[in-house]
Amino acid sequence: MKKRLVAVILTFAMVGGIFCCGKATTADNPLKAEEGDQVTTGGTPWIDSEIKENITADMKTDPKDDFHLYANKDWILTNEIPDGYSGWSHYSECGHTVKERCMELLKDDSIEGHDADLIRTYNDLILDWDARNALGVSPLKELYDKILAAETIDDITELLTGEDTKLEYYDFVGYGADTGFNDPNTYLCAIGTPRLLLSDSAEYEERSDYGNILYGHRKDVFVYIAGRMGMPEDEAGKRFDAAIDIQGILAKKIYTTEENYSEDIYDKMNNEMSFEEVVALSKNFPLEKLLTSTGYKYDGVYLVTNPGYFEALDEVYTQENIEGIKSVLLVYYLNSSVNFLDKDTYDAVNDIENKYYGISGMVSDEEMAYDLVASALSASMQKVYISKYGSEEDKKKMENLCREVIDTYRELLSENTWASEEVKNYAIEKLDKIKIHAAYPDKFRDTSKLDISGCTLLEAIDRMSRDEIAYNISLLGKKMDKEMWAEGFNILECNAYYSPSDNTINMIIGMMGEPFYSSDMSIEELYASIGAFWVGHEISHAFDSNGSQFDAEGIYRDWWTETDKEEFNKRVKKMDDYLDTIIAFGDHHFVGGNIDTEMVADMTGLQCALRMASKVENFDYDKFFTKYAQMNASLEVYSQELSTLTQDPHPLNYSRTNVPVQQFEEFYETYDVGPGDNMYLAPEDRLIIW
Ligand SMILES: [Zn+2]
Repeated sequence: MKKRLVAVILTFAMVGGIFCCGKATTADNPLKAEEGDQVTTGGTPWIDSEIKENITADMKTDPKDDFHLYANKDWILTNEIPDGYSGWSHYSECGHTVKERCMELLKDDSIEGHDADLIRTYNDLILDWDARNALGVSPLKELYDKILAAETIDDITELLTGEDTKLEYYDFVGYGADTGFNDPNTYLCAIGTPRLLLSDSAEYEERSDYGNILYGHRKDVFVYIAGRMGMPEDEAGKRFDAAIDIQGILAKKIYTTEENYSEDIYDKMNNEMSFEEVVALSKNFPLEKLLTSTGYKYDGVYLVTNPGYFEALDEVYTQENIEGIKSVLLVYYLNSSVNFLDKDTYDAVNDIENKYYGISGMVSDEEMAYDLVASALSASMQKVYISKYGSEEDKKKMENLCREVIDTYRELLSENTWASEEVKNYAIEKLDKIKIHAAYPDKFRDTSKLDISGCTLLEAIDRMSRDEIAYNISLLGKKMDKEMWAEGFNILECNAYYSPSDNTINMIIGMMGEPFYSSDMSIEELYASIGAFWVGHEISHAFDSNGSQFDAEGIYRDWWTETDKEEFNKRVKKMDDYLDTIIAFGDHHFVGGNIDTEMVADMTGLQCALRMASKVENFDYDKFFTKYAQMNASLEVYSQELSTLTQDPHPLNYSRTNVPVQQFEEFYETYDVGPGDNMYLAPEDRLIIW
């Protein structure tokens, strides 16, 4: 399944879709803690070198003790997290190069065409502070007053489903066109749980340090913007807490992050129903009316990812909870608007973010505008970029590199010592059926019906949302257009993906830059980067604990024998147990179960690249391992580190160097690592999944 953004209001809580492999640390997802909280003591067996304060110039480094630090100390000391960012890494650098080109394109009036017009018009509206300041917060008044005026639960239903307001408010449920588990080629209507203010439903049971950051940030933003609308501070604070209480009831039935990352999640999510069965799930909440009024009633298949949720929703959706429900609507309506109002709001909200997430300064207005353009008009921005920077030759080169890695991967699978012939053969069949999506697609969605000329900023956003929803509705029941393979993600980001639902690796144009890819790389650098870090990693997702639940056609289907599955699970469990012993910082441990799919992909990607290396005469392993470690160099603010550790399927970057390399004899030989060294693992403790 692909993650699809259906306008701001329909954000929709599906998991599992695409396995993205980088980690975005941009100004879009800033995180922060109070001054003085920025302490990460130690880490065992390795220091958390992503927190710059942990590293000093006089520190001795040794590849035997902490390979990541050894390879990256100079980078750590000479780089800073830029203003407005919660982290900085080679992903960010590479992404920034593309971003700067895009910001130039947005200023270039000579580029002709509807897509160029769209992105320039929206960009200009965002940057027109005079017009935004003249309106202030007044565009919110009408819909804000409507929420406050609601007296009965029927009034709320009218807000959620009425012609004028149905697209404006938080819906208490997520829905949209997506592909399901059983037929990856046809769009169905997926019904999921809504996003939460504290992100992870577990936060409503016991608030973590990271949950406290989210709570403080979102509450302060609400108190500020509600204040601008005329609500007293005290009432705004109470309203926010009432919204948290209501979500606390819903959260009891929403999967936690840990549940979302567990292996049985697809089984739980795979519930296909008819429209009649779906709407029968809800007694009090007007699900039938909502789906009908928003255009999502059709006679095809619905996928309900969490049927139990509707019990909690029915418990909430009563007259007794009317003020709490209004509070939820108010918080989402106001908080989701703050990026599109006047300069005072923008500055105040930025200050609040910086206070909670430990970020300094802010990005330039041009960068802020680009981020919003790329998010709302993703297809248009990509089309304009490709028309200038797309190259058939680069595309071909990347395709060929992918094929080379796949060929080696086939050897790795066929020489596997623990799987039965049956499972091995099917794994190879799946490998051979992997489709390569290199650089960029030749087809994007049609944007010709969207027109935002003559609009104010908020009117333009409204038109874009409606256009997005109309497009999404048009997909229901239709076959997927495989040529538009970048639908649902932005190929300008420095990232790559494996998609289990169509068994593809997507090596997108955004990652094809320094230091990950260039035409003059040595073979050692190429194998470390493309061989291990990117292509080998993505292919491995086809065979990690999630991807291996899908077959060669992208159907959710068990192709394992029981004995093989047991052995595979035993190996993953051994890795989880090992990861659980690593202390990231303070008393925060890694959670193996949350990060094992990414760690399997890292390790198996490296295993594949080492096999490629073994065929090269005089291969320079030091150069290879050093490049591998250097690609993981990164810095993060403390709150981002906490977020990654607790909410992200990707392990902290320093462990993405140290854990994979310590599984392989070539590393031990190159650096003469032995018992007693921090990088040492006894042969019987090493982790090889495939
Ligand atoms: Zn990955």
